[in-house]
Order: sequence, then C-alpha cells, then structure tokens
Amino acid sequence: MTNSIILRIVFVSGAIGASLLAEQKGWGLLHFLIWPMWTEVIVAIVVMDLVVYSQHILFHKMPVLWRLHKVHHSDMEFDVTTAVRFHPVEIVISMLIKIGTIMVVGVSPSAVLIFEILLNATAMFNHSNVRIPLQLDRLLRWMVVTPDMHRVHHSVITEETNSNFGFNLPWWDGAFGTYLSQPCLGHEHMTIGLEQFRDPARLSWLGLLSLPYKAEPVIQRPIHDPHPNIESLSEENQFKMAVETKEEVLT
Ligand SMILES: [Zn+2]
Repeated sequence: MTNSIILRIVFVSGAIGASLLAEQKGWGLLHFLIWPMWTEVIVAIVVMDLVVYSQHILFHKMPVLWRLHKVHHSDMEFDVTTAVRFHPVEIVISMLIKIGTIMVVGVSPSAVLIFEILLNATAMFNHSNVRIPLQLDRLLRWMVVTPDMHRVHHSVITEETNSNFGFNLPWWDGAFGTYLSQPCLGHEHMTIGLEQFRDPARLSWLGLLSLPYKAEPVIQRPIHDPHPNIESLSEENQFKMAVETKEEVLT
C-alpha cells in the first residue's frame, strides 16, 4: 500500500503516461521502424524484461542499491507477499529506469500495459508458495520463471542469492551464466531470507522502511556454511536432492 501511494504521488500517470508522451512526441527507436503491431509488442516486452533483469543484478552488486534491495530479501518466508515487499526508494528508482527505457525504446502504451500485467502476474506467481511437481516445473521453466527457480534466489546462501535474477522470462539467467537449477540443501531444507536479519521484531513496517539506513546487525551464529561448494553438486545431483526432499515430505 505504501508503495502504491508513493508511486501515485511521485509519478501520477506512471509508465503508461510516459509511453503516451513518447508516442505523442515521436520519441524512441521503435517509432522510426515500421513494424506490425504484434512484433513491436513482443520486442518491447523482451527488451523491458532484459532491463528488469539487468537492473536486478545492479541492485545486488552496487552496495548502495543492495541496502535498499535487502528489504525484499529480508522476508523469512517465501510467498506472494514477498513479491510486493520492496523499499519505496527502490520502487521509485525502478519506475525511473522503466520510464527511461520506455522513452528510449519508444514502447507503445498497449505494450507497456501488457508488460505491466505480465510482470505483476509472473512476480506474484514466482514468489508464491505453490508446490509444482518437478517434471512440470522443468517444462514451465522454458517459458516462465517458476517459484522453485526464484526461491533459489531467496536463499541465505550468498552464491544462491546471486543467481536466478529473472522475474518474468527465464532465459536471461541461462544466457548470462547466473542460472542455478536447485538450492543445494533442497527446497524443504533451505533457509529463506538474510542471515543478518532473523529477528521478526526488526522487520516491522517501520523496521523495513529504516532498514537501508541502519548498520547491519552482527551475525551471532551462522545458520549454516554461507559458502558451500555448490559447484561440486552437479545439476543432476541438485535435481535428485530436490526430488528426494519433496518425496520425503510427501510421505
Ligand atoms: Zn534480488
């Protein structure tokens, strides 16, 4: 709610407004090309998704941006509410990047609308705590980021947090070498969140708003080795481990 209100106050008309303005003024590369509408929409969605993926990496690599993005990762549960738990400053920066992309690319209002609906729907889907059979999950991963794929990104283990940055289309992680198929401890045994933030009292509404501006709490007792040798687990082993863990829980 906080983020929706702030976005309304800061940007008023948001991404669609920026797109209407770009269309009116003839700004953006796509306005110089005569392409069928559907081609333009597909190109715009793919480009905007690549920007969201790159921006997500930037929020992990730049210490000042990571301070903001930690709010999203501080959730100790992984469910649909995680999809909307972002610091308002990160939301404002994301909107500025989105508006910049729309202006440069010349994304049409209908493409922006389709992308926004898609991104919101897939973000809610891939942060959800839905149990999807592994074989079906493998198939779905060709087209969309699945909850199992994105859950790896919310692990306390640094190497896993720094993987699977995709939010919508699953191809970027594979293409740029940031893909990790399964968490090394399996989905049922992995720990979600950040090792420094395990106290729910610090993760209140006010606690989250002030989190980026405070010094990080010292880790008292590590939950487990934060840098296990993930490389030593082959993809097949990681897959098997995830299957075993799921079967264990089902029986
Ligand atoms: Zn992240």
